[in-house]
Amino acid sequence: MRILLSNPRGFCAGVAMAVEVVDRLTNLIDGPIYVFHDIVHNTHVVSRLEAKGVIFTEDIPSIPPNSVLVFSAHGVSPKVREAAANRNLRTIDATCPLVTKVHAEAVRYANLGLEILLIGHADHQEVIGTHGEAPESIRIVESEDDAKSVSVQDPSNLVYLTQTTLSTDDAEKIISILQERFPLIKGPPGEDICYATTNRQGVVAAYAKSVDRVLVIGSSNSSNSVRLAEIAENRGTPACRIDDLRELKDDFVMGAESVLVTAGASAPEDLVQQVISHFVTLYKADIEVIDAPGEGMKFPLPRSMRKIMKENDAEIPRGGISVDADGKTRDWMTQSQIPFISITAEGHSI
Ligand code: SF4
Repeated sequence: MRILLSNPRGFCAGVAMAVEVVDRLTNLIDGPIYVFHDIVHNTHVVSRLEAKGVIFTEDIPSIPPNSVLVFSAHGVSPKVREAAANRNLRTIDATCPLVTKVHAEAVRYANLGLEILLIGHADHQEVIGTHGEAPESIRIVESEDDAKSVSVQDPSNLVYLTQTTLSTDDAEKIISILQERFPLIKGPPGEDICYATTNRQGVVAAYAKSVDRVLVIGSSNSSNSVRLAEIAENRGTPACRIDDLRELKDDFVMGAESVLVTAGASAPEDLVQQVISHFVTLYKADIEVIDAPGEGMKFPLPRSMRKIMKENDAEIPRGGISVDADGKTRDWMTQSQIPFISITAEGHSI
């Protein structure tokens, strides 16, 4: 069996930053740390932090006043910020800067009086947060059917935005329907679908047809992990998303000569390594790391986090929290003392 291991895969800079925030807080604060929603959409990350005493909740009235509350990487609506302020909570905003950018676009367009079509999944935390910035100006478009039927007040005063973790396949189709129906619709100045989503999907799109199976590591509530499997299936290659090795059904890979392995932006690298080790042990698989360009994206710790670190005389790291594109190192794992097996960019060494 030949395993093509996607590079990049797994943690993006936004996830690395958000997890780092909560991880550092557990070492900094004595009382419980509350996080609004899952810090990132991965069951392993959440349960590892729960084991360190972190409490994940969306019930702000249940949080004791003056507690520390972290907003997850997906961002929150102004109503959540207001509820936290009314409860006198100390908030740390771990929203990914690329999500914050979409919030800012929504606010700006709403202030300009434009009607906004937000392409995304209505029940996803990121879309809930963005929609909450200007609910009276934003309509959510989830599908091609929605794009065909959505009615607008003034087709000449329209703009679209997208969720950062959409399938690029779906987004293209939806946007082209909207552009056909509303030729004057404007788009955001830059791409809203983020670099990490684009890069991970790009590798699957490029290699899916040349392998027998595609295996995605990521949780079922991780939008970008689910989309990776869809991108492969759209190209006719059987694909499966698993949370971890325990969910891998050997039937899925039985008879396959080549498998592309990738991981969603919130999936820890050690889960990928466990799957790779399994393929090497059971199938004597050869590992080939796809040599896609590295990402090199870094996000600094949020200002609210640096402030609380300063108050506690903690050393504030210079620059940002980075993730090596080839999966060699993950700073937050070292700090969480999570076992980590390294793999070289050339593959084979596990
Ligand atoms: S997937 Fe993209 S938008 Fe989401 S946290 Fe990562 S970099 Fe940010």
